[in-house]
Amino acid sequence: MALSYGSRLILDRLGVWRGLQRVSPIRHIHISQRASLGQTQLHAEEEGVPELGYVVDYAELDAALHAALRASPVQVVTGARVVRSGSLSGYAWAQIDGGELVTSRLLAIADGGASDDRRLLRDYNQHALLAWVSASQPRAEWAFERFTEQGPVALLPQGDGYALVWTGTPERVQTLLAMPDSEFLRALHAHFGDRVGEFLVVRDRSHFPLVLSDHEQAVQPHRVMIGNAAHVMHPVAGQGFNLGLRDAWELAQLVLETPSAQLGEQGMLSRYARRRRVDVQASMWFTDSLVRLFSRQNILLHHVRGTGLMALQKLPPVRHFVARRMLFGARAW
Ligand SMILES: Cc1cc2nc3c(=O)[nH]c(=O)nc-3n(C[C@H](O)[C@H](O)[C@H](O)COP(=O)(O)OP(=O)(O)OC[C@H]3O[C@@H](n4cnc5c(N)ncnc54)[C@H](O)[C@@H]3O)c2cc1C
Repeated sequence: MALSYGSRLILDRLGVWRGLQRVSPIRHIHISQRASLGQTQLHAEEEGVPELGYVVDYAELDAALHAALRASPVQVVTGARVVRSGSLSGYAWAQIDGGELVTSRLLAIADGGASDDRRLLRDYNQHALLAWVSASQPRAEWAFERFTEQGPVALLPQGDGYALVWTGTPERVQTLLAMPDSEFLRALHAHFGDRVGEFLVVRDRSHFPLVLSDHEQAVQPHRVMIGNAAHVMHPVAGQGFNLGLRDAWELAQLVLETPSAQLGEQGMLSRYARRRRVDVQASMWFTDSLVRLFSRQNILLHHVRGTGLMALQKLPPVRHFVARRMLFGARAW
């Protein structure tokens, strides 16, 4: 999981960051397009931050978040599946598998988009293949995002190798999953190029379908959806978890600011929706536009995109704008 520097600041304040041991910093990001000279580089020192982001072990992050929760006065119930939820005047309710009913003035739903009443905005007809790979000439603290007409491919520094996110058509990804390791490593080299030398080892190949979706009623009286429950996007630029964390942080700030008798009421939820709208819409638009722009097979567009990356490299103010959005999100106020 790639986390931005902004997410690190949130996890720091929650006391979660110090619980993470396996953290690989990203200080430089190299963005390029296959078969084109255009490229852009982002550097932490140019953005005035110690690191642009980090690759963390998802299981370790999950364990650190749970440890922080257990150390807090919050009552935690695990392994309980919510089968239905809704709201009535003044409160929300959730029914847990087995019959127990929980009521609350504010129900925050973070089910990862599991509910079936979602709005599919785009099916990318792409799958993401995830794996860990090592390379003969690794470049410490560099992440690579390479756009190809089959979809983006990212290499994120993780330990002494890289976390790989390789997107392609579902059929292509199935073929890549079935390949023997040596053949897969050669295919990756042919696709990604020579920036980190030959690929040597691959482990833990898995895959996910990629869609853009949201929930039309993410904010209802006394019920708020956050994270993927509210918005699922393409993993290009690693935005999803970071955006969900900002949802959670903003909601927590509002809970602190709101008198308990007004929790979950229209005024509070309108403020939440207003504060999150720009960040959520900008992130969905940014990732969706990147994927669509770089996936179009058109020779003229190919050159325009290459020139665009070159221009970004030559225009520091525009580059800073993009980098700040990736690090901290967009703010409406
Ligand atoms: C290939 C790929 C790579 C990605 N890489 C990155 C990255 O590098 N950086 C980044 O920021 N984001 C990345 N993302 C996005 C990121 O994984 C998601 O945005 C993030 O995991 C969403 O977190 P969440 O807590 O909202 O949902 P989830 O992680 O899906 O968690 C939902 C939880 O709710 C539980 N649940 C579901 N239904 C119920 C129910 N009825 N009752 C009780 N519990 C329930 C589930 O068991 C689960 O534990 C990537 C996504 C993909 C597909």
